[in-house]
Amino acid sequence: MIELLEGEKLFKTANSLFFYKKGRATIGPARTPYDILFRNAGKQGRWNVAVKPLVVGLCPSDMAGGMLEFPPSSTRSLSDPKNPAVAGHEFVGRVIAASKTACGELRRRGISLGDLVAGDINVGCGFCSQCKRGDPAVYCLQGATFAGVGSSPHGADWVQRQTGRPHVPGAYTEGFIVLPASNVHKVPRQAVKNVKALALFCQADAVACAKTSCNIMGLVTFKQMRGFDNPSVLVIGAGRLGTWHIAVIKDILPNARIFVADIKQANLKSIASLFGISKNRQYYVRGKHSFLRRHIENVFGKNKFFDFIIDTAGHGVLTGRAITDMILLNVAPGGRFWTTSHTGIPGVDAGHPMILLGSKSFGNGLSPQNNFPYAVDFLAKYAKQYIHCLAELPNGLADKRLARIVATGGSGHKRKESGIIFYSIVNQPNL
Ligand SMILES: [Zn+2]
Ligand SMILES: [Zn+2]
Repeated sequence: MIELLEGEKLFKTANSLFFYKKGRATIGPARTPYDILFRNAGKQGRWNVAVKPLVVGLCPSDMAGGMLEFPPSSTRSLSDPKNPAVAGHEFVGRVIAASKTACGELRRRGISLGDLVAGDINVGCGFCSQCKRGDPAVYCLQGATFAGVGSSPHGADWVQRQTGRPHVPGAYTEGFIVLPASNVHKVPRQAVKNVKALALFCQADAVACAKTSCNIMGLVTFKQMRGFDNPSVLVIGAGRLGTWHIAVIKDILPNARIFVADIKQANLKSIASLFGISKNRQYYVRGKHSFLRRHIENVFGKNKFFDFIIDTAGHGVLTGRAITDMILLNVAPGGRFWTTSHTGIPGVDAGHPMILLGSKSFGNGLSPQNNFPYAVDFLAKYAKQYIHCLAELPNGLADKRLARIVATGGSGHKRKESGIIFYSIVNQPNL
């Protein structure tokens, strides 16, 4: 019924990092998704692949999941030991068990037990019209679930029916995570020469999100549509998401003119050297109202407009009013203002007549959608360039302080330590 990788065991309980109340996480024994795997194996269910996480990436969406801010109106139970809210949604691991059906499905995609995979924790119901036609999980009409983060409130019903739980545990565990076979993506073995090279692939989710941004805001089709290939792009926030956005833009439109803004000089410096961004295209942001038209002209010169402004600065940094003004005054006609915020930004007047007349628009590209295969290829191709951006949070789940770092989104830690992309080794990879 279940095929198990030699030398592995499926435990019912494992040391894990989980939220026990709103905003508070701890590390200790927690129920593994053993029940989910066996419930699905017998009934030919979809939750039929067990992946032992090896490296988990630090991402503030874990905090949002623990604060019940994401998914919007989340009803995730945080104090129920039967449904522990195990965090961790960006990871790379090893396939250690799969049902017979799943083994066949994986084999058709060139994946066997023991292979290294990046896991996509976004799961749709699998039976609605959107899911059936192959749309991304976030488009699921029944409401998607995000393993390790929570379920959309109206999605909790189908998740309960399929898994026996209202939400599914994540990757910060010494046990395993269970996903549908279609949600694991093979990491090419030759790209993984050491643990750090493996760790890079826990960024597949973030790279896939950046690709979603580029797809939806029309950067991928830009040259075709506009007839030139060097749009001006301002990226606000030179952290992890800013880095991946620029990296993907450079992959798609190498001639794009990149401008970058951040409140941290160290971040600006590292992103500038990574991508060769000259001083006159960097904006060291200080004080409030930094993106008023006159400040932009002061920094970047008169008549400087952007075809794309991408706000990766995080929740609440730019207000709806400030964004509306930026779209009106700093975005070029035909341009886009994109945000990576997933908790909503009230007060953006996206229907302002001048925004409509100028064919400008406002949107978001947060989900990895169907871009995991692109992301895995991308990371294999550019590993040398980006591997230096990674920094390990030492001792994995053995260091209890990790719980606080994850629960607070890691911003305090990032202030103290240098580096923009952090990861934890939760199980020894034994490569
Ligand atoms: Zn994330
Ligand atoms: Zn669906």
